[in-house]
Amino acid sequence: MSNTHSATPVRELGADSPAKGLICRNCNATYDLIAQHACWQCFGPLEVDYDQAELAKVTREQIEAGPQNIWRYAPLLPVGVHPEDRVSLNPGLTPLIDAKNLAKALGMRKLWVKDDSANPTHSFKDRVVSTAVSAAIKLGFDRFACASTGNLANSVAAHAARAGVPSIVFIPHDLEPGKIVQSAIYGGKLVAVQGSYDDVNRLCSELTETDDFETTAFVNVNIRPYYAEGSKTLGYEVAEQLGWRLPEQVVVPMASGELLTKIHKAFEESAEIGLTEPGKVRVFGAQSAGCSPIADAFAEGTDVITPVKPTGIAKSLNIGDPAAGPYAIEACRSTGGGMAKVTDDEIREGVRLLAATTGVFAETAGGVVVATLRKLLESGQLDPEAETVIYNTGEGLKTLDAVSSLVGPTHTVKPSLKAAKEAGLLES
Ligand SMILES: *Cc1c(COP(=O)(O)O)cnc(C)c1O
Ligand SMILES: [Zn+2]
Repeated sequence: MSNTHSATPVRELGADSPAKGLICRNCNATYDLIAQHACWQCFGPLEVDYDQAELAKVTREQIEAGPQNIWRYAPLLPVGVHPEDRVSLNPGLTPLIDAKNLAKALGMRKLWVKDDSANPTHSFKDRVVSTAVSAAIKLGFDRFACASTGNLANSVAAHAARAGVPSIVFIPHDLEPGKIVQSAIYGGKLVAVQGSYDDVNRLCSELTETDDFETTAFVNVNIRPYYAEGSKTLGYEVAEQLGWRLPEQVVVPMASGELLTKIHKAFEESAEIGLTEPGKVRVFGAQSAGCSPIADAFAEGTDVITPVKPTGIAKSLNIGDPAAGPYAIEACRSTGGGMAKVTDDEIREGVRLLAATTGVFAETAGGVVVATLRKLLESGQLDPEAETVIYNTGEGLKTLDAVSSLVGPTHTVKPSLKAAKEAGLLES
């Protein structure tokens, strides 16, 4: 395989990184750092396995001296610490906002919003794509691809454009216009599939088996273990931004459930290797009622996920057959957390409330999180006195249509002082 782009790697995958291989989450079978996502023995999902002694050497000072982006955590990731080994838009170090007004509105003592809409393509997906495509180049792939609910396609196409690598991204045909345009503008192939995300995902899995796609890296399919690791930076980063402390509760949106699982893993790891004091973070998962296979399984007390056909406005979370669902359930159960699901109207109201109290305009996934926070407080599952972080994972301008019927000009006036006065604008 040839690497013709500008970031031809100089080191093998795993060199200068604590990653020692892949491990099956199900049966613990181990593998080299290869392009493989399912266990050959039991079909369980593979994840990156680290040398714990190497991780334990990483210090706060080392991280703080690193770049102002996710690569400050490179000593905890699989792709190595050398900038020339990376293919990246350099996402990360997004704001952690002290949400005083939102806390007050909800009767909470201390609430933070981690605003990941501030990433280069305006969603948290830049984190996972940066780690995935950096690994992809080292594994000898020469084209980037994905099965996407929208934000992933935006990020993969943008990373490919920056690196000068061809891309082909697959989306359900009925995505929000903002996400379709943003995927297309970077060039590359954009394939609108006449089906749901789960159909897109199945098609992409089949394509990876064909000769023509042999050198194509589907970031969330055939190299998924590397993709998933990028989500951990959303755990490390919150801990660092809190002054190397763990929060007491977090609320995380769920599509496949991977993000939640990896944030939980990052908190546990931070404590284990001494970056933070030991502490237990109660993890809460958020879904929309239009697609809630994980929250429903949690409510039923099982970890067997029954796939659904997704509906509703939270399209970025519309995965009907979520791969990491059982692991997300385990993370919430084992930490004394929980899950809830919210309706489209509650999601819209969540987007509005977040914007009106924090100045953060979230996409529908952020509305899911705020509405879920509210529901978990009302049901008494979430403690209003405990320090809480909620994750906004995407930008509101991408899903304008979802809230455009909710808001608009509060006044419309002719351009004269008289008209302004008549409209009541001179009474503050
Ligand atoms: C993809 C996505 C998620 C969740 O991702 P999973 O890891 O699949 O659970 C959350 N929010 C937004 C905006 C996303 O695009
Ligand atoms: Zn296995």
